[in-house]
Amino acid sequence: MLFKQLFDDESSTFTYLIADTSSREAALIDPVKSQLEIYKALLDEYGLNLKYSLETHVHADHITASGILRQQLGCQTGVGHACEAKNADKQIHDHDAFHLGDKETITAIATPGHTKGSMAFQWRDKVFTGDALLINGCGRTDFQGGNAGTLYDSITQRLFSLPDETLVFPGHDYKGHSVSSIGQEKRINPRVAGKSKEEFIELMNNLNLPKPKLIDIAVPANRYCGVDEEETFQSSEPRDATKSKQRLTAPQIVAQIKPQITEVTPEDTRQLIQNENVILIDIREESEVAKGSINGAEYIPRGVLEFKISELDIPDSTEAKVILYCRSGGRSALAAASLQNMGFKNIMSMKGGYEAWKSQQN
Ligand code: FE
Repeated sequence: MLFKQLFDDESSTFTYLIADTSSREAALIDPVKSQLEIYKALLDEYGLNLKYSLETHVHADHITASGILRQQLGCQTGVGHACEAKNADKQIHDHDAFHLGDKETITAIATPGHTKGSMAFQWRDKVFTGDALLINGCGRTDFQGGNAGTLYDSITQRLFSLPDETLVFPGHDYKGHSVSSIGQEKRINPRVAGKSKEEFIELMNNLNLPKPKLIDIAVPANRYCGVDEEETFQSSEPRDATKSKQRLTAPQIVAQIKPQITEVTPEDTRQLIQNENVILIDIREESEVAKGSINGAEYIPRGVLEFKISELDIPDSTEAKVILYCRSGGRSALAAASLQNMGFKNIMSMKGGYEAWKSQQN
């Protein structure tokens, strides 16, 4: 099995990747549209087929990647049936099970309250609580059919009936936490620990929170799995089963991305390093770097690039250039597109990668 917790800085959203490594079937929980390339690169890196893209609810603070993942990778999308997400493949009900291979099962637990259709997902010793239960907190209950009393019941009767040692992986965190447990939340979560239902309702009804910035865009878009409404209706017409299941190969994705990025040859890279303010980043795996690398290159493997890039303190000016390289120029092209999406300027990918660099040296 494989498990990864991913984080979208902009919306402070956690996304979870779960996979059965023998069948190579994978599921994402709460993917964020702006992180699409990262998910695809991760799936590619681990050789996984995305079977499900599941939502804990229709989000108000970010746009989901579910619809575009379905279009591009042929996965099935799943959203709680009461969310009114019109064209999700699975309208999820309490206790619904999602199988990855014959060993891994993700089970839905209906946890309404934050929204009418909120679902938690249990897998092994973990529960993905969406916004029903956060670490030391819980989601608000003042829109999308939210109800404080219902949320209290969902938390105390459904989630708190799981074993205390169950690990709690929430939908968001704003304070740097990443995991908790049912036992810990029972003991110290200030919203619910030691509180009666009436006290909880009183507290939730007096939070007076501002409206989420993206709510008017995100909620309607997410009801269509985050893709354009018209596009959705077209694609919800009977689809050719073989066509919808067709996956793109890594070289096909790279070919699609290349027109959107800047590539530089190893020769140009050498000149740029000598004459300009250049940060060179080796994004290969440790085993590849061990066999040789370019002098002076920083090392951040592809899998964590977006999360660690800020550690390099790249100036926000057009003067500084960043050149990424991998073995042959494919992964660095995907990575360059992703960093561009994050707003970095002057990102380049070295054409042909380290192999081309070395062959020019010889
Ligand atoms: Fe939410």
